Amino acid sequence: MNDQQTVRAFIDGHPIDAADTFPIYDPGTGTQLAELAECTPADVDRAIGAASAAFAGGWQRTSAARRAELLNAFADTIGEHRDELALIESRDTGKPLRQAYVDADFAARYLRYYANTVEALFGEVIPAATDRMTLTLREPFGVTGHIIPWNYPMGIGARTIAPSLAAGNCCVLKPAEDASMSCVRLAELAVQAGLPAGVLNVVTGRGVTVGAALSGHPGISRLAFTGSVPVGIAVAQAAAANLVPADLELGGKSANILFGDADLDSAVPVIAQSILQNAGQTCSAGSRLLVDSRVHADVLSRLTAIFEGTTIGVGAEDPGLGPLISAKQRDRVLGYIETGRGEAELITGGSAPDSPDLAGGYFVRPTIFDAVASDATIAREEIFGPVLTVGTFTDDDEAVALANTSDYGLVAGVWTANGARAMRMIRDLEVGQVLVNTYSNGVELPFSGRKRSGYGLEKGFEALRAFTRTKGAVVMMQAA
Ligand code: NAP
Ligand code: MG
Repeated sequence: MNDQQTVRAFIDGHPIDAADTFPIYDPGTGTQLAELAECTPADVDRAIGAASAAFAGGWQRTSAARRAELLNAFADTIGEHRDELALIESRDTGKPLRQAYVDADFAARYLRYYANTVEALFGEVIPAATDRMTLTLREPFGVTGHIIPWNYPMGIGARTIAPSLAAGNCCVLKPAEDASMSCVRLAELAVQAGLPAGVLNVVTGRGVTVGAALSGHPGISRLAFTGSVPVGIAVAQAAAANLVPADLELGGKSANILFGDADLDSAVPVIAQSILQNAGQTCSAGSRLLVDSRVHADVLSRLTAIFEGTTIGVGAEDPGLGPLISAKQRDRVLGYIETGRGEAELITGGSAPDSPDLAGGYFVRPTIFDAVASDATIAREEIFGPVLTVGTFTDDDEAVALANTSDYGLVAGVWTANGARAMRMIRDLEVGQVLVNTYSNGVELPFSGRKRSGYGLEKGFEALRAFTRTKGAVVMMQAA
């Protein structure tokens, strides 16, 4: 991939030309970065055909040990190209370079984790009648489709394909049109590392054509979608028409619940980072802070200092905060900020930065709203920008009730020195993950939502199982 070159789809081990292309932009400057191949439904057919042939032609019969070797080689190759991958990701999404390195390392880690665990995945022998052997096999589905958003293309891309490939499936990946470069490069590196052609294919272009063609395709046996609620519902409906299961990993409005007994020195910087990371464009961003009223003033002033001290710039300069992905996303975030001005008290931020150096890019200053009621629009809807809402509580029950008012249920952070309270929070919060005195989770921990956060099943050993299906068998041991 060179500058101003066309970023092409990758099918059956080769880059392919599409009938058309469209420009993609550098979020830090607003200038054109490259052209992106605009695939058609016929290209999706071709990719699914290649994946299907690769599955039948050998991948499904490749031993788990050999698949693990190849996935480890793929991870090694990512490691060898981490500088290049981080630069690509930072330029394409605008994210600070440091974060792009984290994403490259996570991509490799996902592949290694599923390479390591796939050999521990096996069926069972069930103690049924004594004259027969009753057993289960865990088999791959065949061709799996993966549709991902633009916020962590390399991280989420690897997260979803790694368990599928390890389990013996062949993949067709559709990255978001705003950030496809790193996924195409990953597919090239997979072949370089020795994965057979057709095992991993990437189709680029528009969601409404390419994504829709993939989600409604009868050649797919399982779908994994990460993205917004309305598109997720459309994808699941299209898949249901073919009786294809579709996992939906959707948005969030996750709360950090900060109790008065917590160590504020360690809690506050992590809480700030949980919304500033990737400019707030993280499904599990800590976008709501619920704070014990006794420490509210202290916490607010500490947060304000961090937000106002955060450097803003283009990703390659590795600032504290980069741009949003697109002008559309910036305008959406600024629109929510306008709504927020009528609902709550703006403490800091609230606009694009005024530096002329940043004028072409899609930047929004780190923003805090205080005194945000739980029914305010900015407390309920996912903003997907560097905007933190703050509200207070006076006891544990109120904290839980406020946290659970959300239509979403992805993650919650809990900050307390009281172990019994932490356990009650884990029990009572209606979310897929509760993180106590930390906001990091890791590759090993299953990640799944509740309510409007969907019913995805990513990460951990559970995701590996989820990319297999069970076959039962009975073998009579005595002549009938
Ligand atoms: P989106 O509009 O739902 O797009 C997600 C993906 O779906 C993109 O690849 C998109 O392609 C594709 N798509 C669009 N229309 C489609 C259609 N009709 N049929 C099939 N595919 C279609 O979401 P986004 O705006 O890119 O991402 C932001 C959202 O994703 C937020 O709500 C965020 O919380 C959520 N998210 C969730 C997680 C998680 O793990 N839970 C992670 C990251 C993001 P195009 O880009 O080409 O339109
Ligand atoms: Mg881009």
